[in-house]
Amino acid sequence: MTGRAAYRWAVLGLIAVCVAVSWTVIKLRAHDADRPPPPTGPRPAFQLPFTCGEVWTLTTYPGHDDFDIDFFFTGGPTGGRTVLASAAGTVTWAGWSATLGDGQPAPPGSSGTRGGLGYGVIIDHGGNWYTEYGHFAAVPKVRTGARVTAGQPIGVVGHTGSTTVDHLHYEQLDDGRDPKRTRGNGDKVEALFDGVPSGITSDDSSPDQTRTSRNCAS
Ligand SMILES: [Zn+2]
Repeated sequence: MTGRAAYRWAVLGLIAVCVAVSWTVIKLRAHDADRPPPPTGPRPAFQLPFTCGEVWTLTTYPGHDDFDIDFFFTGGPTGGRTVLASAAGTVTWAGWSATLGDGQPAPPGSSGTRGGLGYGVIIDHGGNWYTEYGHFAAVPKVRTGARVTAGQPIGVVGHTGSTTVDHLHYEQLDDGRDPKRTRGNGDKVEALFDGVPSGITSDDSSPDQTRTSRNCAS
């Protein structure tokens, strides 16, 4: 074999290796995109997001989504009560989210917007489990990326975003239910507090519930 022929074979070989590697990477990436989320782990021992011993009414209304809970305090004004983390986790979002009638972002701190949590927090508890809290009175007490312990204060109840009435909007989500993992309707599940179902399952027909907080970790 001449030097030139050997060089040609070396170049061809290199090209073949590059093609094989690219093909493998493309196949792996495509497979990755198709892969369903990992199976959901056991649900953390979620507690009412309020101070141990406080008694709250759980309610909903037609047009709310199924499983969404609105909390009202039974022992006095709802506005100004402290919101606690339902369980330990990592804050995936803490900030402002609300839209005006035309879909444009609403100014931070405004209330009675067309949509949105206003000031709120989303916590990742691991195993696909998330909790979501909205309509805080002011900027959350925790930042995106922070670790929180069970019962750690995360905000104060108010009426920012798509409401004009002081209350806490609350959701428990199982990300494994929705392949797109949107933290939207497909991920919502009936909330459990201290292992007991909330009773808020349908926005049309769930009667109000009254529950005492066992969020006594702090
Ligand atoms: Zn709500």
